[in-house]
Amino acid sequence: MGNDILVVAEHMEGKLAPSTLELVAKGRDLAAQSGGAVKAALLGSGAGALAQSLAAYGIEVLHVDDPSLVEYSDGAYGQAVRALVDHVAPRVVLVAHTAQGYDLAPGLAGAADLPLVSNCVDVRLEGGTLVATRRVLNEKIQGEFEVASDRPYVVTLRPGSVKPAEPAAGGQVTPAPVAVDASKVRTKFLALERPQVSDIDLAAADVIVSAGRGIQKKENLALVEEFAKALGGVVGASRPLTDMEWLPKTRQVGQSGKTVRPKLYVACGISGAMQHVAGMKDSGLIVAINTDPSAPIFEVAHVGIVGNVLQILPLVLKDLKG
Ligand SMILES: Cc1cc2nc3c(=O)[nH]c(=O)nc-3n(C[C@H](O)[C@H](O)[C@H](O)COP(=O)(O)OP(=O)(O)OC[C@H]3O[C@@H](n4cnc5c(N)ncnc54)[C@H](O)[C@@H]3O)c2cc1C
Repeated sequence: MGNDILVVAEHMEGKLAPSTLELVAKGRDLAAQSGGAVKAALLGSGAGALAQSLAAYGIEVLHVDDPSLVEYSDGAYGQAVRALVDHVAPRVVLVAHTAQGYDLAPGLAGAADLPLVSNCVDVRLEGGTLVATRRVLNEKIQGEFEVASDRPYVVTLRPGSVKPAEPAAGGQVTPAPVAVDASKVRTKFLALERPQVSDIDLAAADVIVSAGRGIQKKENLALVEEFAKALGGVVGASRPLTDMEWLPKTRQVGQSGKTVRPKLYVACGISGAMQHVAGMKDSGLIVAINTDPSAPIFEVAHVGIVGNVLQILPLVLKDLKG
């Protein structure tokens, strides 16, 4: 086994998944610890341009070009990734914890008898030991877990856990000597069906103003909307508000809603329950407005305002407009 880190790239409809660049960034950290290099497996059919665009992040891209890899299927991808693991003999195989990744990774680990650590928010190597940070018990506890093996570790990393890699010089695309035996592929891609998108994409917003039960009644959402608009942002919510159908479920931030990382997150009348905080704690600047000075939201807020949100928002709006 070598010291390299093998990143399994993900792409769809001609675009790299954002999580792939996060894996590259984490791969660089791991490679610095193992003394190896980051290599990415890009599987596809006619995806040479994508392989080049990934090499622009300063890594060697092992490109497998095969007609059976035109779309993801666990059978074809599983075969190709297994062959690449044999070829590269990496220290760690990094896979995104996405629908594709949590299909692929257990199959790979099972078939090749490799240790699997899934849904990590961070990971590092200490000597030969893998130390993975994971959230357990319904996200109530975050713990570090050590796994020691002389086999390559398969790790799935939760999207949004690390900053994506920046472009860098020195990358290259290498055609990988891997062929897929189509007769052994038992699953096949039929069609991609997308859910109807009827609302904004909260995860893409730079500014989110979220309303909690502290806004007291549905009519007060208009004030939060106006405030969000003045900041060029969108309105999010804690779960009680979407449960009461004051806002659609797509606006819910937290463990059972969206994970967001905007530049600015304003929490209006939100207590800061751990299930809410799990979805917004990595925001750039967190401003919390709450009447209760001991509300847990102030533990994660960079700026805390103790007061009535229904009085504070109109005052700030007046200033913003002035
Ligand atoms: C399995 C599970 C999953 C969950 N998933 C999520 C999730 O994804 N997202 C989520 O949000 N929750 C989630 N929850 C619910 C979570 O535990 C909390 O109940 C919820 O986040 C509380 O919402 P809140 O802060 O709006 O309400 P509350 O806890 O009722 O807090 C209201 C806050 O407003 C303050 N306040 C009152 N009046 C004013 C005022 N006029 N001005 C300013 N502040 C005021 C109060 O001091 C209080 O802190 C989940 C729970 C479970 C069990």
